[in-house]
Amino acid sequence: MKKIMIVDDAQLLSSAAEAVSSAGYDVIVYPSGEAVDRYGSERPDLVLCELDSPQISGLELLSLLSERYSELIPILFTSDSEDSEAESRAFDAGAMDYVRRPFMPSVLLHRIDNALRQIDSVRQLQGLKVVAETDPMTGLYNKVFVQKTLGELCARADGTLMMIDLDNFKLVNDLYGHGMGDRVIIRFADILRGVIRSSDDIVGRVGGDEFMIFCRDVHSERLIADKTAAINSGLLEAAREYMGADMNIPLGASVGAVFVPEEGRSFDELFKKADKALYTAKENGKHGCAFFHGTGAQGGSADHQNESPSLIGARKILEERVKQRGAYETNFDDFRSIFRFISRRVDSYHYDVEFILFSFDIDIADEKVEAFGNLLHRTLRRSDVFSKSSRTQYMVLLPQPVPDHGEAAIRRVMEKWRQLDARTNIYCEHESLLGEE
Ligand code: GH3
Ligand code: MG
Repeated sequence: MKKIMIVDDAQLLSSAAEAVSSAGYDVIVYPSGEAVDRYGSERPDLVLCELDSPQISGLELLSLLSERYSELIPILFTSDSEDSEAESRAFDAGAMDYVRRPFMPSVLLHRIDNALRQIDSVRQLQGLKVVAETDPMTGLYNKVFVQKTLGELCARADGTLMMIDLDNFKLVNDLYGHGMGDRVIIRFADILRGVIRSSDDIVGRVGGDEFMIFCRDVHSERLIADKTAAINSGLLEAAREYMGADMNIPLGASVGAVFVPEEGRSFDELFKKADKALYTAKENGKHGCAFFHGTGAQGGSADHQNESPSLIGARKILEERVKQRGAYETNFDDFRSIFRFISRRVDSYHYDVEFILFSFDIDIADEKVEAFGNLLHRTLRRSDVFSKSSRTQYMVLLPQPVPDHGEAAIRRVMEKWRQLDARTNIYCEHESLLGEE
């Protein structure tokens, strides 16, 4: 049943209320002082209001409603004024119709009916427009809308175009399933909404894990770097909330940025430049931003470009200062880099590697996990590398194991652990990464 809200301060519309109600509409009547709040809670299909209401005039009420609810307000005015200027002011302000009093009830009902039909078709069109412009999963603008709008915006407005791509997002799908991937994308869209100034900037999803932002009037590398950092910390926080505090996927976002109009006004050209800068950000280690300047992209880590150490000097920079005994323990980021490098050797040179995962129950004390790390350090070879990959896990790589070395190393580690602590459960999985023939 359609709901009609009648705003009536002086009981001028009580006969109208009766007629509308007996025509089968749900009628609610409020004085103008309550109408703005009640509109939000009642959500009427149409407001019927006296233009020259003694407390808040009809035009004032319409402007208050538009301001509060930022949407089309379906309102129909009545008045006994013969003044045709008042009528035209009402239409200019956005009234759906204007009915002069006194009116025949049947005429009023006719006009209400027309207004409701008109509103339905406007809303339908608005709905279609929203659907056509929106990415259904995130509610952000979609690629078609972004291309069109940014094409127009870049031609006349100044600012920064940012191209954003999630880092290592495929791992979320692979390890936690596509549903988790979707949740991360939806949350990421909220994070992006949070870093823009709502009315001036544009944010859209232009690919699976690719997004674009146009920040109007921003020309500062520092500001873009700050936004990139905020995006990354928001994403990490969300990922830990969804996948657990010790999830170790190196999830993040890389940003390629280009200044408008310094780098041009053609969207196609700016898009390519932002994409190049994004590539640089990925190459520089991800989770950061890079800017396209003139002929190429520059990232934040280009400071060492002009230093050119000799070969021996270069080696000294890389070498360990003191030859350490025991297996090589690294932080997880370094471990990942080593793993990737060794995987390349596995693929290219049939170089065999044993990969081992040691895990404890979730309630194990931190000191015991540390003690196990020390044990790995002492027990494995100097050429083996390991890392604490979460609060309860260690990953180990044994490069070039001799036959059965993996099994032998595991046996040795387990025996020593049992001597140290026979009661704590420890689990071990391992596999050989073998180069393809
Ligand atoms: P990189 O750090 O190099 O960007 O690698 P990446 O793992 O983020 O992977 P890449 O950007 O090359 O590919 C994005 C992946 O996002 C591909 C696809 O499997 C996944 N993806 C794309 N759209 C969706 C989606 O709507 N939902 C989910 N769950 N995954 C998606
Ligand atoms: Mg990606």
